[in-house]
Amino acid sequence: MDDLLLSARELSKKYGKNSSYALEKFNGDFSAGELVAVIGSNGAGKSTLFDILGGLIKPTKGVLNTFVDNTQIGWCPQCEVIDWSLTVRQNISLGFELRTGSFRRSDQIEQVASLLGLAGYLDRTAETLSGGELRRTQIARAIIGNPKLMILDEPTTGLDPSAIDTVFKYLKSQTMAGATALVSTHETSKFANYCTRVIAIDRGRVIKDIEAAKFMEYAPQSNDLWDAFKACVEDRA
Ligand code: ADP
Repeated sequence: MDDLLLSARELSKKYGKNSSYALEKFNGDFSAGELVAVIGSNGAGKSTLFDILGGLIKPTKGVLNTFVDNTQIGWCPQCEVIDWSLTVRQNISLGFELRTGSFRRSDQIEQVASLLGLAGYLDRTAETLSGGELRRTQIARAIIGNPKLMILDEPTTGLDPSAIDTVFKYLKSQTMAGATALVSTHETSKFANYCTRVIAIDRGRVIKDIEAAKFMEYAPQSNDLWDAFKACVEDRA
């Protein structure tokens, strides 16, 4: 496949010896330019998948191959990874340093802060931020330096509609320029206008991995990925 960045083969995860699979036999190849929506109900296994892809947890079985340098992977987990006593500027900077091992340039911090409406918050400590401001700081940590691969688990939770549009527009422009992003989001109506591919997960299993336009054919009257997801699940019942 051209410009392959990530390849997952038969990824499975069990959290306990006697528990069922949270994720079972996940296969997927991800290439440059893709903007992928990962959708499914609560508990479907999306965060498990993102945590494996982001390197937080190891799969019980399966193989993950990355064909892009770790410094080029921006990861925004669902849980808050933030240093509360540091300022927004320091938090964003730390995200870059942890990923790349090198110091950020202040213009890069200012650029990403301005994109996410954080320019006025750079010298505030994280503990003083609202939920939406914190989430934007986490997104900034993940996307500073324009990584080639972005793995974003519910990045838009707690964001207002304008900030959501900004994030989706940014992801669209980056992926059109050759980056790749995997995103889980509850903003299924908005994101339908942006994503190029949909991976639908139900109870740990991929039930559809398909071009976004084709996925929407499951709900021809709707412009919401969630309606197509529900129709897709019903279709299998
Ligand atoms: P989603 O992100 O789609 O809501 P998750 O990946 O968080 O789903 O969860 C998938 C399943 O794995 C759920 O049944 C959840 O309860 C279980 N699970 C997730 N994390 C853990 C954990 N750390 N320990 C035990 N079970 C977990």
